[in-house]
Amino acid sequence: MKKEPVKVKEVPAQARIKDFSEVILGYSESEALQEAGRCLQCKNPTCISGCPVGIDIKRFIYHITQKDYKNAYLTIREKNNFPSICGRVCPAEYQCRKACVLTKKGSPYASEQAIWINFLERFAGDYGMNNNIPLPAEKQESFSKASVAVVGSGPAGLCCAGELGRLGAKVTIFESLHKTGGVLRYGIPPFRLPRSILDNEIESLQKSGVEIKANVIVGKTKLLKELQDEYSSVFLGLGAGVPGFLKIPGENLCNIYSANEFLTRVNLMSAYKFPEFHTPVSIGRHMIVIGGGNTAMDAARCALRLQVGRGFKPDTSILYRRTEAEMPARRLEIEHAKEEGINFQLLIQPVAFIGDENGFVKKLKCLKCQLAEPDASGRRRPVAIEGSEFEIDCDVAIIAVGLEANQVLTRATPEIKTDKYKDVIVDQQTMETSVKGVFAGGDIVGGEGTVIEAMGMAKKASVSIADYLKNK
Ligand code: FAD
Ligand code: SF4
Repeated sequence: MKKEPVKVKEVPAQARIKDFSEVILGYSESEALQEAGRCLQCKNPTCISGCPVGIDIKRFIYHITQKDYKNAYLTIREKNNFPSICGRVCPAEYQCRKACVLTKKGSPYASEQAIWINFLERFAGDYGMNNNIPLPAEKQESFSKASVAVVGSGPAGLCCAGELGRLGAKVTIFESLHKTGGVLRYGIPPFRLPRSILDNEIESLQKSGVEIKANVIVGKTKLLKELQDEYSSVFLGLGAGVPGFLKIPGENLCNIYSANEFLTRVNLMSAYKFPEFHTPVSIGRHMIVIGGGNTAMDAARCALRLQVGRGFKPDTSILYRRTEAEMPARRLEIEHAKEEGINFQLLIQPVAFIGDENGFVKKLKCLKCQLAEPDASGRRRPVAIEGSEFEIDCDVAIIAVGLEANQVLTRATPEIKTDKYKDVIVDQQTMETSVKGVFAGGDIVGGEGTVIEAMGMAKKASVSIADYLKNK
């Protein structure tokens, strides 16, 4: 008899929009056992090819079926440093679950029947974290005098630091913000990734000997050259933190935010905990988020929660130029946003913001669109329909239309070669930049822009850095 997928428990939409607590509650032990029991333990496990870091999914699921959670955790840790994080944020529907043999052939994303690998990973990851399962010791005498500077404390920097620290190198992370975690802290809201999980991972890195120096902007308050002089090698995990804009009239009116600024105020600077925290953030009666990616979903879901917290009638819309099928956001986030009451206004292109007499945004002028043939991204291109102009009420707008590399460090260090997108160019095999002994990984070198991919690149760089240190 066909076994049905085990649905993960979630806080109901009307309850969860009242606060920023975690929405997905994860599997209990019996649920994890039941879901793991659905895995076919395929002779040719296609799921592994869908994981950007090649976790032995079949093996870790097998350990769960045997109630051997310790080895399930250790199997994942062979390839992935932060399973509790990835089990919560990985776009599994486009990765391992899509590649699972139980996904229908030709499906654009995972079928409902595909094994819920991400929730099983989260279960094993939380087990390892809650039980302080130690990793096999790897300290090597040859690294005891080596020192590595890691710039940036997002998933790439944290992963690289963890790997080299485990080998015995002295690792120092330099972070420009006052808190560590990169997008995991300032971008992804706590209702998707509770801060206790992130804090726990960072604390265990620190306990293992990794030093963290916050409030240091490399390229400004400290130069790369100084790091090269003080450390045996450097890793750059700078991310892509510069927001894109629409470049339309009225975009600099008051109450128009980039999604990065809005999310940073809400998440990193705890505006959602007002009045405990006094970070100002404008909460409107008609909040509009422009974009269709994860950033747009996160911004909209935060905006709606803030409206509810303020006692306003929830009225947050996502405006997107294409249809839902072309949205790059995770399917799960789209579903959650819809359940929570976010209004999806599709095939709409903003053309101008209109302000009131005090310079605050009050309306958004838009055009309706239709889809034409696919563009360079492979997605069908939106074309504005002539004469279809209309206006919508909008007293706070959040622009979530893409992110670019932050050039503070590369502008100050032209020896680090960049490409036309300002991303750092690396040797794809070693992740070494154009400067010997300086390596890079994560969003700063381009790619899919996912947490797991950033960590995969950092892991690859850490292997090259270890080789470099041995031969130095
Ligand atoms: P980042 O996480 O950007 O970290 C870079 C760090 O470097 C930052 O802390 C920055 O302050 C620091 N830094 C930069 N320049 C300097 C300097 N000169 N000196 C010192 N420090 C510096 N991916 C998923 O897989 N799943 C998701 O659900 C998901 N949701 C997302 C939601 C949002 C809102 C955003 C913005 C992205 C999301 N992503 C998601 C993408 C994912 O978060 C990124 O791909 C990932 O964080 C990249 O990691 P990174 O370490 O390269 O960079
Ligand atoms: Fe097979 Fe899917 Fe199990 Fe992987 S997760 S072993 S593809 S059934």
